[in-house]
Amino acid sequence: MARARSEAEVETRPDLPLKPGTRIGILGGTFDPVHAGHLRVARAAVERLALDTLLFIPALLNPLKQGEAVTAFLHRLAMLDLAVANQPGLFVSAMEGKRTPPSYTVDTVRELRQRLGARVELFLLVGMDAFQEVEGWKDSAELAQMVSLAVFPRPPYGLGDLAVVMQRAFPFYHYDIGQQAWLAAVGSGRIIPLDLPVLDLSATRIRSQVRSGVDLTGQVPSGVAQYIVAHSLYGAARP
Ligand code: ATP
Repeated sequence: MARARSEAEVETRPDLPLKPGTRIGILGGTFDPVHAGHLRVARAAVERLALDTLLFIPALLNPLKQGEAVTAFLHRLAMLDLAVANQPGLFVSAMEGKRTPPSYTVDTVRELRQRLGARVELFLLVGMDAFQEVEGWKDSAELAQMVSLAVFPRPPYGLGDLAVVMQRAFPFYHYDIGQQAWLAAVGSGRIIPLDLPVLDLSATRIRSQVRSGVDLTGQVPSGVAQYIVAHSLYGAARP
């Protein structure tokens, strides 16, 4: 049976692959649980952005989800490990598990920059649902200067909604047709609309389906489905 990770393992496991490369994607989230929608966008982003590595970085505590019940970090981490096993280019980093919560993305990016150096290109992948709330993120203007933000659709929000958010949150950016991205008037900020394939899946719905005994085939990798049952997560009945 796949077991939960221990706090000692979180402290000692590597936060980054041995050879991360120079084009690195970041997909942060609660991953409660990780599902096929996350994996689909991750793989598509690796291809479309020619990434060397895509880091899944689970939040210890999402600052915008404080007060909500969230499954233990060690379970969410174990499920991510199962989901990316044997998937080249995909890596799970537990770095936010080592910091005092809440888990601010800008702090994670600062740490990555420090460790990887200025020459590495960081692509922060964000679904349009999450990007709607960008003004509430800590130091969002600074964050947008430190990475290329790649925004992908997440129904009900599509890339057509991006212009409205840009006008509101980043009025000093303009759309550059040649680069197919929004560029900052000053500095190196770049926001890329990325039309990635999105599956109609959400962790919230998966949790409620587990409670109702719905089979998760196709929604989460089989190892993750087995883990949910083995650890009675989300009200799953033990077999
Ligand atoms: P919840 O339903 O509990 O809010 P979630 O399924 O949205 O969870 P998160 O962990 O909050 O999952 O999402 C992390 C990131 O993955 C976010 O950027 C979100 O936009 C994106 N994402 C979530 N579900 C999908 C999906 N089906 N397809 C593509 N991206 C997704």
